[in-house]
Amino acid sequence: MSWAEHSIEHLAEEVIRTVRHAFRVPKIIVLALYDRLPRKEVKFTRHNVFLRDKFTCQYCGNCFVERELNLDHVVPRDKAGKTNWENIVTSCIRCNTRKANKLAHEVGMRLLRKPTSPRWRPLFGMRSEIPTDESWGQFLHPDREKVRVTA
Ligand SMILES: [Zn+2]
Repeated sequence: MSWAEHSIEHLAEEVIRTVRHAFRVPKIIVLALYDRLPRKEVKFTRHNVFLRDKFTCQYCGNCFVERELNLDHVVPRDKAGKTNWENIVTSCIRCNTRKANKLAHEVGMRLLRKPTSPRWRPLFGMRSEIPTDESWGQFLHPDREKVRVTA
């Protein structure tokens, strides 16, 4: 079925009119195959590190609110550890204090996951409190039962 035919059957309030036709305004366009999106790196910020780590302390594995979290240098700065995606992890204040300027194994702690630079995706950093169109729901918070993957 073409979009023009679909528009006739589902004429919603949001339409674009031409002289002869009315087209329903699409709310979502899915690009199944498209490799020309500009590459954009995720900005290295405190908040984005928390987002990458899902607000989960990378030592104890517990989830916290932002104000209860710190950034931790996996390799401490005084041991030439850098401040970048590969050496910074989310840590709760307690674990951060315990680890201090040591390596995790030196104080009997273990890093849950080796930190990496996140791959850019359009929704990275999107705030959940920003209201979005209801019809976006299945894309932003997909229900596994309803998702159909086609080639
Ligand atoms: Zn912790």
